[in-house]
Amino acid sequence: VKDSGRAGYLWYSESIHAARKRRLTIENYLPQAIDHNELLLHYQPKWDLKRNEMTGVEALLRWNHSQLGAVPPSEFIPIAESSGLITVIGDWILRSVCRQYKEWQISVPGNTWSIAVNISGMQLLEPDFVERVRTMIEEEEVEPSRIEFEVTESFAITNFVEVSRVLMQLSELGILISIDDFGAGYSSLKYLCKLPIQIMKIDKSLVEQVYESVSHQVVLSSVIDMAHQLGLIVVAEGVETEEQLRFLRDQGCDRIQGYLVGRPVSAERIVKKDFAI
Ligand code: C2E
Ligand code: CA
Ligand code: CA
Ligand code: CA
Repeated sequence: VKDSGRAGYLWYSESIHAARKRRLTIENYLPQAIDHNELLLHYQPKWDLKRNEMTGVEALLRWNHSQLGAVPPSEFIPIAESSGLITVIGDWILRSVCRQYKEWQISVPGNTWSIAVNISGMQLLEPDFVERVRTMIEEEEVEPSRIEFEVTESFAITNFVEVSRVLMQLSELGILISIDDFGAGYSSLKYLCKLPIQIMKIDKSLVEQVYESVSHQVVLSSVIDMAHQLGLIVVAEGVETEEQLRFLRDQGCDRIQGYLVGRPVSAERIVKKDFAI
């Protein structure tokens, strides 16, 4: 019994050690990721339920490292944020999205897709962020209303004053703002409705639980109604089943995203509509 306690402690400290080592390895390799061409954007379709077609995509960052393999963004984005690298990576993402927009304007005749980009809170608070975005949009000749910035609800609420000022400036440029992961934590509508936003993305945790109980259904349908009353476009995330789709359609949800309609895939596969499972 004594021994197992000690073994447990050893296992625990070893796993902390392994996690720290992995973090250091990532910190070490990440600064070269751009120069080594290891970063790539995948795109996940957003499906419009009224028009019954793909009306836009969300850009999702991928990192393929020769030794580490595919490192998920949930692992390396927080490290990029804490090390300050997110500024450079974030600029690379925005520039790549602008170029992808232009490429689709040429390769897909009459293209009207919107492209959504995830913006980290750290980026949003950089003093010259809005200026850099303005420059990039002008240089790349992108129509700003076709670009959406996704900002998480939790960051927007906990940094309300600064975030609302920056979002206002971005809105003036013509960029659409969407609130990401709505309902993942504490939701504060009192603040949210004061932000210049056009789109609300309902977190997959709310969608996932919809057939667990009637109360989950009530929550989801009230969120949709309330967002509509605030004049927002509603996007449900993480839609995986026909049942979830049916419920969302019945509740008047505008758009869905999820494995049911399409996984994140390369830009070429988006054009070929090759994003099924
Ligand atoms: P997010 O913005 O909430 O993105 C949605 C995540 O859910 C993506 O994971 C997507 O692949 C996944 N997903 C989509 N449909 C389904 C589904 O039906 N079921 C399930 N279980 N998952 C689904 P991914 O690509 O691993 O990204 C994770 C998070 O990393 C993103 O969450 C976002 O917070 C962050 N991230 C990804 N790309 C970027 C980026 O370019 N910039 C920044 N700042 N953050 C990014
Ligand atoms: Ca997102
Ligand atoms: Ca999300
Ligand atoms: Ca309703």
